[in-house]
Amino acid sequence: MPVALDHPVQTDAPARSVGDILSKRLVQCAPDVSVTEAAGLMRAHRCSSVVVVENGRATGIWTERDALKLDISADGVFDTPLSRVMSRQIKSIGRDTLVSEAGLRFKRDKIRHLLVVDDDDAPLGMLSQTDVILNHGVEHYLTFRDVRSVMSQALVQIDAALPLAEAVRRMRAENCEAAIVTSPAWDGAGIVTERDVVRMVAERRQGTVGEAASRPVVAVPPNFTLLSARDLFTQYGFRHLAVREENGAFLGLLSFSDILSILQYEYAVQINAALRERDEALVRSRRDLNLARQVIEASLDGVMIVNEAGLVDYVNPAFTRLTGYGAEEILGRNPRLLQSGLHDADFYDSMWQTLRGSGYWMGEVWNRRKNGEIYAEWLTINTIRDHNGHITKYAGTFSDITEKKNDEERVRSLAYSDSLTQLPNRRLFHDRLEQGIAAAHRHNGQMAVMFLDLDLFKRINDSLGHDVGDMVLVCVAQRLQDCLREGDTVARLGGDEFAILLPTLQEPADAARLAERLIEAMQHPIPAAGHSLHVTTSIGIALYPEDATTPDGLLKCADQAMYQSKEVGRNRFHLYSASSNNRATERLSAEHSLRQALARGEFHLAYQVKVDMTSGDVSGVEALVRWTHPERGEVPPGDFIPLAERLGLMPALGEWILRTACRQGRAWLDHGLPPVRLAVNLSPQQVVDPTFPPTVAAILAESGLPPDLLELELTERALIDHPAETGRVLRALYACGLRLVLDDFGSSPSSLVSLSHLPIQAVKVDQGFVDGLGQAFADRDLVTAIVRLAHALGITAVAEGVERPAQVAALKEAGCDEIQGYLISRAVPPDEIAGLFARPLLAVN
Ligand code: C2E
Ligand code: MG
Ligand code: MG
Repeated sequence: MPVALDHPVQTDAPARSVGDILSKRLVQCAPDVSVTEAAGLMRAHRCSSVVVVENGRATGIWTERDALKLDISADGVFDTPLSRVMSRQIKSIGRDTLVSEAGLRFKRDKIRHLLVVDDDDAPLGMLSQTDVILNHGVEHYLTFRDVRSVMSQALVQIDAALPLAEAVRRMRAENCEAAIVTSPAWDGAGIVTERDVVRMVAERRQGTVGEAASRPVVAVPPNFTLLSARDLFTQYGFRHLAVREENGAFLGLLSFSDILSILQYEYAVQINAALRERDEALVRSRRDLNLARQVIEASLDGVMIVNEAGLVDYVNPAFTRLTGYGAEEILGRNPRLLQSGLHDADFYDSMWQTLRGSGYWMGEVWNRRKNGEIYAEWLTINTIRDHNGHITKYAGTFSDITEKKNDEERVRSLAYSDSLTQLPNRRLFHDRLEQGIAAAHRHNGQMAVMFLDLDLFKRINDSLGHDVGDMVLVCVAQRLQDCLREGDTVARLGGDEFAILLPTLQEPADAARLAERLIEAMQHPIPAAGHSLHVTTSIGIALYPEDATTPDGLLKCADQAMYQSKEVGRNRFHLYSASSNNRATERLSAEHSLRQALARGEFHLAYQVKVDMTSGDVSGVEALVRWTHPERGEVPPGDFIPLAERLGLMPALGEWILRTACRQGRAWLDHGLPPVRLAVNLSPQQVVDPTFPPTVAAILAESGLPPDLLELELTERALIDHPAETGRVLRALYACGLRLVLDDFGSSPSSLVSLSHLPIQAVKVDQGFVDGLGQAFADRDLVTAIVRLAHALGITAVAEGVERPAQVAALKEAGCDEIQGYLISRAVPPDEIAGLFARPLLAVN
């Protein structure tokens, strides 16, 4: 049974020396003393041996066992001097010898007595097996064994009538200490032992064995425990027990020394096993220790062991390499020496707390090398405890992770930013988008995502090379960034694609305004490698939560909207269609498009003829502006002129219209068309603008159209809102030699009186009245009244919106001078006007 080292053999024996347990005095006598005297001494002292001493030295020993060697039947046997029968080989043992070792000596030397001597070999006492058994403290072994397992199988049974000398001879021959004695005359059996023989010798009796035997023999069952047997021995002072089966048959004898023998055996086995284990473990641990030391010394990780007092006990060479501190500089000092100052007291407090609680701590620590350099280490600290659980050491191992951290940082920046523009990359944009959505969701907020793609960027790359392309991208990135507020994110998604996140949006119009600013920011040419490059961008906008609520969804919508921008002509923004339902954003989108429509040449003019009612000839042509919107197609002027006015675009647009119309008029003349008046509509804004008349003059001069062929149509509204300014402008225009026409006359409560003060040459009866002609008598009367008024003032009356012949008849009757309307012709492209001159438009009778 192997014995674990941490569970040493449970016995006091190893700890006690024979000197401690030596109780009996040494019984000694001279060599000439007779065996009878010696036997008497033994009985008197209740011991089993006497030591023969000559001149103060032990020269022999005579024991109970030796008594069996006597021939009891011989004459004078009782007077035999000890010197003749004693054993001269006296075994002695030092008093400091351990009890366990003495037990082993008994076993090894097959003896039952050991002379205990002092340091000078002077005899101190006699140690018997009994002493050892009683002092072994190994009761637990004895409880597990029964007497059967250790009793002597050789059972000698002797008839009581046999002479004692004969019995002693048999016992000697059988080498047994005791024998069962039986007699038909006895009730039970008796027992004869060495001790009985010694008694007979002391009493000088020879007789029969029956006389020597003790009766009755004490018998125990074979399953009797050795512990109980030992207790019987000590209780009654005898040294042999008979082992008898229930049926009365004797199985054997158990002697006190049998117990010792098993005990010795067990003990020897265990102690040996324990010692062997201990030795092996020692060797192993020495080897392991050596190995561990070598490993620690060779380790690339720094190792530092700190003792209970918090001072450094050990550091390995890697420690020195990593920190710069030699062992001699740090041993016995507090490891605080290494602190960088980057961690606060809380950090260390919690480290110690964890360490004491769980036995280890692991983490990143910034420390300072001897040269002052700060470095990051990955530190693991383990507590080392003794077998009582008390912390005795702290072992720290660490590796320098500064490089790794730098790498990490590099990787992080590689992973999250675009190396060319240093803008966040697609991944980081995605992350921010996710965060933005989470926040907007929490706060019920709105967000916008823009997708930007540079227009025709590939051309730059292909024609000027990638280096120039890269320079453009860097510049674009900078411009985009300059337009953003703090908190907005612009990222380069790859190639010439960028994305912008506006995580907080007051209203969708904010996004559209930013898009306008971005487009505006791209207007300035980009200087790159000696070139001056015009780069424009198409933008798509998606709104959270209207269009999508996931990062991918938003990007997809913005991307789609961007493609729509591309399709309709680039350099513009487009809101994802789902958001166009939003009127505000739609208006914004229109505003944006309108601003650019002029530059993009999306406007053109259509011309509608006026016909003289008397002659049926074309008397004039009205220019009507048309906007061909890239997506919405033809946008009626009623839809965009008010917007253009609100945006303050009307002066520029009006000027373009006027110039275009005048050039067209000139072109018709040049193409040989008969000279007819060319009517151009004015916006109220133009009519109040004092710089307008000189502009008109300039355009007339520039185009070469005779001023008397130009007619300007203005609505009543301008006259009402700003009568003074309008008056000044109209007079100036009149001075230029052109004609002025009051459009949509009667549609608003105008002051008819103003007509007499202003240089107006014609009025156009509002479509609303013309429409009712032929049906409503009221309208007919009203139109008649207007025509009369006009004629009274000496000005021409024109009817517009004439669609049905019945209206023509009514107008003729009312005395109207000219008509205009779908019945005659719709507004047509300029090249179709010549065709209208060629055929009769109105039948006159
Ligand atoms: P307006 O000056 O009274 O122009 C007449 C409008 O009536 C034109 O509409 C014309 O196409 C339409 N019209 C002509 N004949 C008929 C007809 O028989 N039946 C019906 N139902 N409509 C007819 P358009 O071109 O949509 O212009 C609407 C208004 O927009 C114009 O009214 C004018 O006030 C303004 N506008 C048009 N072109 C310009 C321009 O170049 N400058 C300015 N400032 N305003 C313009
Ligand atoms: Mg008009
Ligand atoms: Mg009109």
